[in-house]
Amino acid sequence: MKERDLHKPFSKRVFLFIVLALFALMIGSLAALANENKVTVMTSTLNVRYGPGLSHEILTQVHEEDSLNILGEENQWYKVRLSNNNIGWVASWLVENEEVSADTRANGRISGNQVNIRQFSSADSPVLGTVNMNEEYQILYTEGDWVQILYGGRVAWIHANYIERLDSTVIAASSEETNGHQIRIGMNPTNIRSSPDANAPLVQTVSSVETYMVIGEENSWYEIELSDGSTAFVASWLTEPVTDENEASAQSSQAAALPATHLSEATIVIDAGHGGHDPGAVAKTGFTEADIALATSLKIAENLRTAGANVIMTRTDDTFVTLNDRVYYAHRAHADAFISIHYDAVDIPNSMSGTTTYYYSENERELADTINHYLIQNGPLRNNGVRHGNYFVLNSNHRPSILLELGYMNHDHDITLINTAHYHQTIADAVYYGLSSYFSP
Ligand SMILES: [Zn+2]
Repeated sequence: MKERDLHKPFSKRVFLFIVLALFALMIGSLAALANENKVTVMTSTLNVRYGPGLSHEILTQVHEEDSLNILGEENQWYKVRLSNNNIGWVASWLVENEEVSADTRANGRISGNQVNIRQFSSADSPVLGTVNMNEEYQILYTEGDWVQILYGGRVAWIHANYIERLDSTVIAASSEETNGHQIRIGMNPTNIRSSPDANAPLVQTVSSVETYMVIGEENSWYEIELSDGSTAFVASWLTEPVTDENEASAQSSQAAALPATHLSEATIVIDAGHGGHDPGAVAKTGFTEADIALATSLKIAENLRTAGANVIMTRTDDTFVTLNDRVYYAHRAHADAFISIHYDAVDIPNSMSGTTTYYYSENERELADTINHYLIQNGPLRNNGVRHGNYFVLNSNHRPSILLELGYMNHDHDITLINTAHYHQTIADAVYYGLSSYFSP
């Protein structure tokens, strides 16, 4: 963290951009909401709270396969009506929309040129792009004169005059044919690829047990449907068929792997320091603080997501993000914890070594202490303890926030470790253990 970063002027334009960008991110869940008003509980036990966030008291608990009616949405939490007519809130990422099946989806064909695609269902909302005659897009939802489509991987709106709904018999037929043919993967971390070949680009790695619908088979690879409706391939020998008998055992093993801890209900913002034109500290070997902070942050995010947490990253590549925007991510998501990742440097090389955990307000001390406890236990570097730090991302942050300086870029011993995948995994494990402990009742 450099001194000059601490007093960046507030930019209204950037603020507006982030508001719109975050709103766009939210549209994904709103789309599901618009389509369906029921969700199914995916974890063995799920807390229903009095309000939309982990800080609210628990009203009751519901269980895997229970169905809940959605009444509203806020901060990525669903307001739900329970079977006894009580109303409470559940974390949206721990439930799954029901009734979204292939045959309810349809494609639409564009019937005009240079037709505007908009962010919302109104003619004065921002234009996201244009489409042309005969292009086809998946239709998600229709509302009055507006049709919601999947456009470039996100949801967007087009006026109904410019899109024709196509007959969805092809999609419906394939879903019928494969009904009941489900597979389970993720007993061990399993790679999903873009084509039926072990060298094909990786789409994602599934590291918890999940069930997928098989829609085709090629060279002993299954083509499966992912949750966003896209398809990808998995080697058939890494899968097991879903039958009623092993359904029960898988559920129990999954429940053991992902207990309904409070961490799984938590929204965590992981803030990789620096990026873009701001490299942060630069090691004499040439690698930058921005790069290793990002590599560390991606590993932390992966660990926390595996544990069921809702993870938001302030950046996922080498782009510049203002300090205001980083804090805004925490406020917008009503984050339960914000963790900023940095690596240190001092004027005199080799004069300082090790990790330091910073907090700003006294009520963030517990979060700092808990994470630091596991850094001491797991970390290979000297631990410089927990300190008060007057950093912008902490002092202007209304959500519980800490900043980790995870080693010195200009210390000869530190730099041999901090740019390794092993070190990033060690840090990710420490953060996971720390947050699990911090969020346990
Ligand atoms: Zn820094």
